[in-house]
Amino acid sequence: MAAQSKIEWTDSTFNPWVGCTKVARPGGAASACDFCYAEGWAKRSGQVKWGNNPRRRTTDAYWKKPLSWNAQAQDFQRVHGRRQRVFCASLADVFDNQADPHWRADLFALIRQCDQLDWQLLTKRPQNIRKMLPGDWGEGYANVWLGTTTEDGRAYRQRAAHLLKLPAQVHFISYEPALGPIGGLEVDGRAPDWVIIGGESGVRADRIRHTHPQWARDAIAECRRVGAAPFLKQWGNYENNPFVVEQGLSIEDAKRLDPPGNGKGGGILDGRLWREFPVGAPVVNAKGRRAKNAVEGRTVPAW
Ligand code: SF4
Repeated sequence: MAAQSKIEWTDSTFNPWVGCTKVARPGGAASACDFCYAEGWAKRSGQVKWGNNPRRRTTDAYWKKPLSWNAQAQDFQRVHGRRQRVFCASLADVFDNQADPHWRADLFALIRQCDQLDWQLLTKRPQNIRKMLPGDWGEGYANVWLGTTTEDGRAYRQRAAHLLKLPAQVHFISYEPALGPIGGLEVDGRAPDWVIIGGESGVRADRIRHTHPQWARDAIAECRRVGAAPFLKQWGNYENNPFVVEQGLSIEDAKRLDPPGNGKGGGILDGRLWREFPVGAPVVNAKGRRAKNAVEGRTVPAW
């Protein structure tokens, strides 16, 4: 729960509460929840019991953090040339039906108040979003990006169908861990604005679920076709790295060419990093005014 996140695609994380239940997939298909990072954190910290147990709201003092980031937004803008991004939530799911609806109402009030921050709400329960959005959601708050996780093409078609129907300034997909090809990004004529791609990290060697470089290459090509911004976060493990998988180099050689600083397991594909963000919504504030540094165009490189 950090002011400065190590996650490559955000700046800060905020958890209004902690605790969650794993989301199973039809037919027992491999799920992104199988090796949930947050469950491991919960065991280590003892702060909450994972699964169908009460969620724990975080402290009032912690809830003040976004207010202080919001108050310092001009400083952030001066240093970074853009608005601060906040990933909500890394140790819970905003659209979890076991979370107290009053907490969610408080969260949306906070999001409205912190209109100088771009809030990235990522869920594995996109079917719940519509009924859990606040009454004044309208065409989507200008400072909220709505996203869902998909592991493969089947999950994409099911979850993106829910997500893309909803009004939002930015629709995004976290294709991480990528456990199979994602296929076409258009669903019912709609496509996301941003696709994060990544291999699974942090699991024991005997549990590694592989991401093939070609799946990422195909997803990036699809992003280009539909005008989405691709963000290849990491390979997760050097056993997924294209220098190893496609060029037959040793892991040690791959580490030299694509060091862990590029993401866990490296992050280079076809000679470059792919780290783009959607632009458009992020350049307006919650009152709809365009920011002074508005960048025109579909995507901008992250460096
Ligand atoms: S939805 Fe996220 S936090 Fe909840 S169990 Fe799955 S991976 Fe963990």
